[in-house]
Amino acid sequence: HAKQKGNHYLFFNDSMNEQAVKRLQIENLMRYGLKEDHFVVYYQPKMDIKTGELVGMEALVRFITPKKGIISPGVFIPIAEETGQIIEIGEVVLDKACKDVKNWIDQDLFNGRVAVNLSAKQFSLPDLTTRIDVILQKNQLPSYFLELEITEGTVMDDPQEAIAIMRSLSARGIHLAIDDFGTGYSSLAYLKQFPLNTLKVDKAFVDDMNTDRGRNMVDSIVTIAHNLDLHVVAEGVEQAEQLVLLEELNCQTIQGYYYSKPLSPEEFSEFLRGQKQR
Ligand code: C2E
Ligand code: CA
Ligand code: CA
Ligand code: CA
Repeated sequence: HAKQKGNHYLFFNDSMNEQAVKRLQIENLMRYGLKEDHFVVYYQPKMDIKTGELVGMEALVRFITPKKGIISPGVFIPIAEETGQIIEIGEVVLDKACKDVKNWIDQDLFNGRVAVNLSAKQFSLPDLTTRIDVILQKNQLPSYFLELEITEGTVMDDPQEAIAIMRSLSARGIHLAIDDFGTGYSSLAYLKQFPLNTLKVDKAFVDDMNTDRGRNMVDSIVTIAHNLDLHVVAEGVEQAEQLVLLEELNCQTIQGYYYSKPLSPEEFSEFLRGQKQR
């Protein structure tokens, strides 16, 4: 394919070009969206499998553009990771999550932790802990109410460095969770050294629980977690049958459409009020 531009012919691959254009568009939309406050935070409940009570929630970013509608995190997060915009987006999410949770605590609707995703780029910022302190301070939220979800890839990139960073976060009372456990490569030797609180079983494993092999896999993951004294959260639980199996395997907490999809702050307030009346 060639297009004439002056007296030059530019050769390019259509699909490659389209992709590059789309990326650039999203990068520009994100820059504009950061200025215009188009990033909002939704909350997905984490429920105790035995009591059916709310134990916490995960903050999940939503990008709502006036012209292109909602853009999925699956689309913009990888681009934001590459451009570095994830740092600013991540701080907007943390700030909003702290503000909302502070409100819910003050209204006596909630008394647990909010889990916020921390990208690899944020994790390796030299002043990460200061940045988090500033946001907690600004919102008058004690660090006790915060949990950070970090993927295996992020912490296994430089495990020794990761231990130091995690220690400084953990020393503040912030809880740490390994996200999407089992999808990357984790060394058990390191897992033991990380000051972790929670291990999140990836949805892919929960989806596989209808087979013996899949069930054994989740059983193994839960056993590893418990041997390391870690709390287990199963992600992406959609069906009652999965819930029953997870309870048999002693998984304590579940997150998924079975209970609720991620909710807007207004919807989540309603959810909290409903929980209180139980
Ligand atoms: P994640 O951290 O693994 O988050 C869980 C994802 O699974 C969310 O997708 C959630 O909506 C979805 N999910 C939860 N329960 C179910 C279920 O029962 N069925 C199905 N089909 N899906 C379920 P979401 O919100 O689209 O986010 C996708 C990914 O984008 C997240 O995966 C996370 O890696 C990233 N992400 C989202 N928000 C942030 C953020 O604020 N910062 C960073 N760095 N990454 C974020
Ligand atoms: Ca997560
Ligand atoms: Ca996850
Ligand atoms: Ca995931």
